[in-house]
Amino acid sequence: MVDTLLPTPEWRSCNGPVSGRGPFIYAGCQSCIMLHVGKDEKAKYPFLPEAGKFLQDQGFSLAEFGTDPVLKVIVDKAYERIMAATRGSVYRSALVGGKATGDHTLNMEIFSFLIAIVLIKLANHNTLVQRFALNESRRAEAFLTGDLSDTQDRSRSDMARRIIHDVSGTQVVQSNHRYLIPVADYLIHSKSFHEREWKLVNREVDGGYIILKPDKAVRLVRHTLVTYITSRINKSPVPEMIPGFEVMVAQLVAEAERLTPKYVVTGVNPPCVEHAIKVLEGGENLPHSGRFMLATFLLSRGKPIAEIAPLFRNAPDYNERITMYQLKHLAGEKTGTKYMCPSCNKLRIQGLCFATEECDGITNPLQFGRRRMAAGDVAAQEAAGR
Ligand code: SF4
Repeated sequence: MVDTLLPTPEWRSCNGPVSGRGPFIYAGCQSCIMLHVGKDEKAKYPFLPEAGKFLQDQGFSLAEFGTDPVLKVIVDKAYERIMAATRGSVYRSALVGGKATGDHTLNMEIFSFLIAIVLIKLANHNTLVQRFALNESRRAEAFLTGDLSDTQDRSRSDMARRIIHDVSGTQVVQSNHRYLIPVADYLIHSKSFHEREWKLVNREVDGGYIILKPDKAVRLVRHTLVTYITSRINKSPVPEMIPGFEVMVAQLVAEAERLTPKYVVTGVNPPCVEHAIKVLEGGENLPHSGRFMLATFLLSRGKPIAEIAPLFRNAPDYNERITMYQLKHLAGEKTGTKYMCPSCNKLRIQGLCFATEECDGITNPLQFGRRRMAAGDVAAQEAAGR
């Protein structure tokens, strides 16, 4: 596992001439910056390749964590870190203002993340991976915002910009206390945002760049942070069961099973809807637009809210109260306005269309079953020579 968290080829691909010179060379900004990833940075961003070597560097083996009573507190913390993710609550870091009070806190932050990954790999459940990645990305988001907006200590904002670049490929340019993102990148990252404030017309544009506040710049790339952490976990090999970890792993498996919805929609659903259900069943993150499509489709088909809500239970950021509220809102129970399922055209643009031959000619997913039956009728009539 540790090896897979070492610098990857992508990590080094910032710029031709400097790539390969080391993981601390970063040339994705205005100038080449040598960044030292200290312990504070590893604690804030434990998914960084540099943090992956921490166990090794400190001379610990995984087996010791299963048997050493002194190290048990770290394993407990790792378990709590995962459980916080399954509850949808952001893990409360012991760092204050991005700094630790001592070595013990720093070690605890870094080790608990790495051991959490080991536990997740042993539990081998996608729900845990997704929820953990989402939770950790939110934790990192808060630190990234603080670091990016630090105008006193340039190394902090450089580090934040490097991380944003590494996870999203987007270059945040810092100029006179302004944070600029190329319009093309902005459009890619904001395409699944529906709030008005994210529309291009509501943004300040200057010379091909969008001007954003630090928190918005970080929010814009949150989904790529989730993907980055997910992929780092997925790429880690599954270790052998570590004696002493068995009970925790069994409890994590049970928790993941509990979170997996048993409810499966049957009947004639269009491919886009089937795909959305599959994504949720796999514990993966369905974008807001996909959830909107799925909910409005099922509501229009007459499914009761109580039967739709469990479908979202496996979403990494599931919150029962908010889900129920949103479903009621979409069903028109809050305002009297019932929301309609988006058109196939819109879903195509949003990357949510997975059309098959059976979709032929329909303009809205709600037409799927009806149109198919009509085509069948026509075929039957033709076969009968009518
Ligand atoms: S064509 Fe329409 S119904 Fe078919 S998959 Fe695409 S969006 Fe869904």
